[in-house]
Amino acid sequence: MQTIINPISKSRIDEIDFENLTFGRSFADHMLVAEYADGAWQSVTIQPYGPLSYQPAMMSLHYGQAIFEGMKAYRSKNDEILVFRPEENFKRFNKSALRMCMPEVPEEIFLGGLKQLLQLDKAWVPAKEGCSLYIRPFMFATDEYVGVSPSTTYKFIIFNCPVGSYYAKPLRVRVETNYIRAAKGGVGFSKNAGNYGGSLYPTQLANKDGYDQIIWTDAATHEFVEEAGTMNLMFVINGALVTAPTGDTILDGVTRKSVLQIAKDWGLKVEERQLSVKELVQGIKDGSVTEAFGAGTAAVIAPICTIGYDGQDYNLPERKESDFSSKVYKEINQIRLGEVEDTRNWIFKV
Ligand SMILES: *Cc1c(COP(=O)(O)O)cnc(C)c1O
Repeated sequence: MQTIINPISKSRIDEIDFENLTFGRSFADHMLVAEYADGAWQSVTIQPYGPLSYQPAMMSLHYGQAIFEGMKAYRSKNDEILVFRPEENFKRFNKSALRMCMPEVPEEIFLGGLKQLLQLDKAWVPAKEGCSLYIRPFMFATDEYVGVSPSTTYKFIIFNCPVGSYYAKPLRVRVETNYIRAAKGGVGFSKNAGNYGGSLYPTQLANKDGYDQIIWTDAATHEFVEEAGTMNLMFVINGALVTAPTGDTILDGVTRKSVLQIAKDWGLKVEERQLSVKELVQGIKDGSVTEAFGAGTAAVIAPICTIGYDGQDYNLPERKESDFSSKVYKEINQIRLGEVEDTRNWIFKV
């Protein structure tokens, strides 16, 4: 499909303070907009980022057919624009789409369109260390109809935000044993908007008690740990990397997948298994749990310093340079900046 390009008349880039970027509040000049109707993708346009107009009865606002992705582009030392594993986001996006009764987006539009968009807005990829261009692809239902059924029309959009370096202050997290994020048979594995809406209130309650994030537990028993906020959750226990297996309730994170692969390549023992809160607390007490961290695109690795459970705080050992989480963070950072050889074929060049 031919992409129609309507370029901006004057770039807004001079209005941006690249030295003081905050996450998600600055937007690059252009966005990609694709329209779906009559059972097929009809058009792809790259146009200036800006408001769109919709009817109050637009279905996605009422029944939540809305999904998204998040990935990052980096500028290498020799000025190439590199995106970290977007093929994985593309595949996951279409899994989310299927679960939410939405049409699949073809690779030509998701990855091909992304390439064209990034070529046009190349200047928006920050050069400063630690900074990147956050890429937000999303799709939503656009029928004007208040009946509950799948929409027949959709929009797929990609816009981009230059973002600053993310300082991963060690997190205080609380094990949540009342509210849930996801249940077997539910939509927890999909990146759909409602999952995040539902997580805000319990997170706010944890914040009020002095915690940064929640550790979600399984919906049926609250005995097993699942994810940390909007990140996958990982531990080093007796020298092995332990994380929950993917399934209905776990988001199949690209960072998670990458960390596991690197750990295997380094000869570390990897255990994708259920981990009970009991084993975790006992392991922190007896010193067998040496590291706890979240894994996700925003921070890559977010170390955890404290886990609250049942009114008690359990502290993890102080983070060291020689820790697995420190080393794997460094490795992923070098891969995505093109500073080490891309032996696993993870880099998408624009
Ligand atoms: C997006 C997300 C993650 C992390 O996925 P990445 O692909 O590594 O960014 C983990 N958990 C949840 C609930 C998420 O939404």
